[in-house]
Amino acid sequence: MQFAFATLCVYFARFAVGPVVLTQRTPRSRKETQRDAALIFLLLVFCSSCRMTKTTETQPNQKVVNEELDNPIVIHRRAIAIDMHADTPQRLLDELVNLQERLEDGHFDSVRAREGGLDAQFFSIWVEPQLFGGGGKTAMKRADDQIAAVHALAEQHPETWAFATSAADIRRIVGEGKLAALTGLEGGYAIDDELANVERYHRMGVRYMSPAWSVSTSWAGSSGDEAGRTRGLSDFGKQVVREMNRLGMMVDVSHVSDKTFWDIVNTSTKPVIATHSGCRAIANVPRNLTDEMIQALAKTGGVVNVIFYPEHLEPGWSEKKKAVDGEIAPKVQRASEAEPGEVAHKKLARDRVRTEEYAKRLPPVGVTRLVDHIDHVVKLVGIDHVGIGSDFDGVQSTLSDLADISELPSLTRELLRRGYTAGDIEKILGGNMLRVMEAMEKN
Ligand SMILES: [Zn+2]
Repeated sequence: MQFAFATLCVYFARFAVGPVVLTQRTPRSRKETQRDAALIFLLLVFCSSCRMTKTTETQPNQKVVNEELDNPIVIHRRAIAIDMHADTPQRLLDELVNLQERLEDGHFDSVRAREGGLDAQFFSIWVEPQLFGGGGKTAMKRADDQIAAVHALAEQHPETWAFATSAADIRRIVGEGKLAALTGLEGGYAIDDELANVERYHRMGVRYMSPAWSVSTSWAGSSGDEAGRTRGLSDFGKQVVREMNRLGMMVDVSHVSDKTFWDIVNTSTKPVIATHSGCRAIANVPRNLTDEMIQALAKTGGVVNVIFYPEHLEPGWSEKKKAVDGEIAPKVQRASEAEPGEVAHKKLARDRVRTEEYAKRLPPVGVTRLVDHIDHVVKLVGIDHVGIGSDFDGVQSTLSDLADISELPSLTRELLRRGYTAGDIEKILGGNMLRVMEAMEKN
């Protein structure tokens, strides 16, 4: 900059002095005059840009702008924040909760979503295979009922919610000041081993599916059981992935076995995502992704949406939880037996005891650990391949300072503290997932 300024000064001096000397000898050529005029113009532009920079630096408003860019709430207002995974639909069915009011328990409702600066929620359509079957009519009904509950949420509260199936829908709904509701199938149990059902669920609005939750399907191995150790995708499983690619339904690798993961990335021709996973390099649980997996997923153009659950974030927490599970098993069992309701209500009773006991017996984990995982993904594959998937309403323990959706700005605050820019944070909060959705929608 200084060199450019000095050069221009020399030319300016030559122009100022030159004519006096030169006119006495030879008249200045037209070319010389044009060149000098051009240089004057450049000098004026240069000086005015210097002045502009200086004025901007001393503008009193500038400080306010900088402060706003450091304010997590302002960043949330500017960003489109998309949480890729919450299990709230079960609450809509089994507890008939009203999401329009601030709920005393759980992690999600419309009031707290607004407070946290959330814009779009992917609701997980989870069929618990032990309770509702690893396929068959009961599994399908359980999925259908949850999808209907999300549609009903949007229909009954159009002032707050609108059902979305595309990136364009999300942008439009957010522009109208509403929350976007989307759906994804957790575990492929509800397709009941029928390829045609993939399209059926796509028509119902479902925009992602994980082939298996913690129990392997006949066509995909899970990270949660013995079968998953040797089972990847069967030929039918590969057909399912190709059908999802054709329809524009994202393939979710959270919960699948390592073998299934590799079969998915080798079969899919579209970006692959993890809706709620962590990094195995930090928290060594089979549910998390290895560095090689994160690199392969990024190569597809996909996104790792980091989970907020301590078990998948904090090293050693999973082992401690297993020990606590052993200690509290009789208490959990008694609560289940004392609950007179249906299987879903018995599960709720068991989860209530777990929530209380984990809070008392397990060490608290903060949002800094969540950001360690985000940092790890960014260091491995860059800022374009990371997002968020809370798993709210699906876990019995949460981060101490991100305990429900209203505390989402805690994450932004920590990202800012670590030097992420507002632009980076917009990508993490949802920008990267919008890019993936747009890529899925193209044929
Ligand atoms: Zn899950």
